[in-house]
Amino acid sequence: MSEIRVYPDSVLRKKAKDVEKIDDRIVQLLDKMSDIMYRYNGIGLAAEQIGILDKLVVIDLRPDGKNQLIELINPVIIASEGTYEEHEEGCLSVPGYYDTVKNRKKWIKVKYLDRNEEERIIETEDFLSVVIQHEIDHLNGRLFIDHLSPTQKLVFKKEWKKLQKEREEGK
Ligand SMILES: [Zn+2]
Repeated sequence: MSEIRVYPDSVLRKKAKDVEKIDDRIVQLLDKMSDIMYRYNGIGLAAEQIGILDKLVVIDLRPDGKNQLIELINPVIIASEGTYEEHEEGCLSVPGYYDTVKNRKKWIKVKYLDRNEEERIIETEDFLSVVIQHEIDHLNGRLFIDHLSPTQKLVFKKEWKKLQKEREEGK
């Protein structure tokens, strides 16, 4: 069985809880999450995706082909501006499906804790901003497919059935 929870797993619809204390359990979880993210060639992973309801996110866009890990504990978007252009999103929890998302913010300001319990602020735009929004959505029980238009959702349903069938036959 995959370590990653796949749609329509109900855990992906739950709201994660704030981390109260950054103890060994949290630090080990962050390490485990980045391990899994790299193993699956993902660029981001929220704790929900491995069935854990703590507000934890790891992201690595590998700029210049080098690892540059970002760990976000209790991230909150405190300001945002503009709209990011139409772009394709995918998700390790919705494997094999990619679709256009239109309503992401261009610029965001995010407050979070790092693993040393320091409060930090990140201001970012464009792709990293979109990835952070995608991951924070996970912590609120949302998936990128929730942002699709009604027509796109119909296509998703059909395609997803096909993908599921292929996966079952591939076993
Ligand atoms: Zn995702």
